[in-house]
Amino acid sequence: MSDHRIPRTESAYSYPLLIKQLLHCPLVSCPEQEIIYRDQLRFTYRDLHERVCRLANALLSMGVKAGDTVAVMDWDSHRYLECFFAVPMIGAVLHTVNVKLSSEQILYTIDHAEDNVLLVHRDFVPIIEQIKGRIATVDHYILLNDGGEPLTSSVPFSSEYEQWLAEASPCAEFGDFDENTRATTFYTTGTTGMPKGVYFSHRQLVLHTMAVLAALGTPQQQGRIHQGDVYMPITPMFHVHAWGLPYVATALGVKQVYPGRYSPEMLLELIDHEQVTFSHCVPTILHMLFKSPHIDNVDLSRWKVIIGGAAMSRALCAEALQRGIDIFTGYGMSETCPILSLAHLDEEMLALDQTAQAEIRCKTGRTMPLVDVRVVNDKMQEVPRDGQSSGEIVVRAPWLTQGYLKDTRNSENLWQGGYLHTGDVAVRDNRGYLKITDRTKDVIKSGGEWISSLELEDIFSHHPAVAEVAVIAQPDEKWGERPLALVVLKEGLETPPGKRDLLALLHEYTETGVISKQVVLTRVKFVDGIDKTSVGKTDKRTLRDKHLG
Ligand code: AMP
Repeated sequence: MSDHRIPRTESAYSYPLLIKQLLHCPLVSCPEQEIIYRDQLRFTYRDLHERVCRLANALLSMGVKAGDTVAVMDWDSHRYLECFFAVPMIGAVLHTVNVKLSSEQILYTIDHAEDNVLLVHRDFVPIIEQIKGRIATVDHYILLNDGGEPLTSSVPFSSEYEQWLAEASPCAEFGDFDENTRATTFYTTGTTGMPKGVYFSHRQLVLHTMAVLAALGTPQQQGRIHQGDVYMPITPMFHVHAWGLPYVATALGVKQVYPGRYSPEMLLELIDHEQVTFSHCVPTILHMLFKSPHIDNVDLSRWKVIIGGAAMSRALCAEALQRGIDIFTGYGMSETCPILSLAHLDEEMLALDQTAQAEIRCKTGRTMPLVDVRVVNDKMQEVPRDGQSSGEIVVRAPWLTQGYLKDTRNSENLWQGGYLHTGDVAVRDNRGYLKITDRTKDVIKSGGEWISSLELEDIFSHHPAVAEVAVIAQPDEKWGERPLALVVLKEGLETPPGKRDLLALLHEYTETGVISKQVVLTRVKFVDGIDKTSVGKTDKRTLRDKHLG
């Protein structure tokens, strides 16, 4: 059989899609462009390159080699951006630690990812002090400090980040390697059971960056990112690389602003002072900004914001539009790198009034280039694109996690039938807009963080007075969703417990770091019975219809 592959001259360079390649253009075309950290630091892309080289050299001199894992616990910062590049560029894996997890879950993820080096912001040092005796794999700890008082800690820090960088060489050559090398990993709790590791290769991250650039760069008018933009993430950088946008912003060479720990005042000040024009966040953050007493002092009419991670309510969208914000939805998940679709508006849609526009901006959007989304029934057949027929979103794209780390069983479930199963139920209309209507996964999303309903049910069921319990997601304007525990008490109790007694149970678990503090949002409702499906499972759909009316 003849070989149909393209002929290759022996000396021709076979260009691997590596993260380092994203730096070529900005370093040549805009080396003086700025990167800003809060009101504390500003430097140029030229400096960024030097700092990335220093970080890479510092890691190498510490003994980090290709295949090792370097973990980070930080707020959104220039340091995180440096790690996004330097760690994968030496062939190591960047583990972006989800700092919102409980200390026990953080310990689990550090062990499971086999982290060798851990960079820790001083705010998270107490977490590490709590678990350090049980961390088996980490050889070196580096302190990330924003100045302030010297830190006394029992964590054996090898160095402080700035000092560590200052001692390293500013020059480095980054060699080529296989583009399918794992670049990043992190853990999602958007499934039941322990957090699950997802992972992405250099090739996947580069292709995701290119596709997002195409998707955000090509709309006729609305929701565009371009070279004149000023970018500031307001989603945590540990969460799917802040939706991959720091890679996009860097490849594009725009001014970037990193806000550190979120506070409404600092965010608004940065938007105002640095003239931020492009951001992304979960609805709860925007809600928080709108409640700030300073909001009316800031002109938001140049601001473009992608809302994702949870459905955007029409009320939030309407308020944003009134403030002149170009707001629209993005959709994806940890497993999908993440972006799959964006709710851009065509020219004729922009001519509609704000109410009609909000309807479209709140949809889950149209797919990005290369993304093959199907909405399927339980036989994996596509349902009609009529805006009515619903089914699960399943997907293929070049940048989806190829499984869960060291977890074959759940990986097989994720990839049943050769499509990644999102666990999201949606309809799609004849113009290709998806709209999520439900979820098959037993998890609740509050303020962008997952809470497992099964875990909560397990805790409540341990109370001696509880006969039965089911936890469902209650829509909430501020948090998106809050857990609502429907509790059936045992009959004939002499002193039945009150709601507070049951909620006190949760505190015991949060105090000991077993579950995330997010569960304090739970509400309790006493009910007479829990509805069941024909096969005897808790019928959450009926429960929702009945109790959330
Ligand atoms: P995570 O893995 O934490 O990023 O969460 C991903 C999940 O958040 C998705 O599977 C959806 O259930 C939900 N989600 C993300 N974006 C949206 C959106 N635009 N509208 C509704 N739900 C969303």
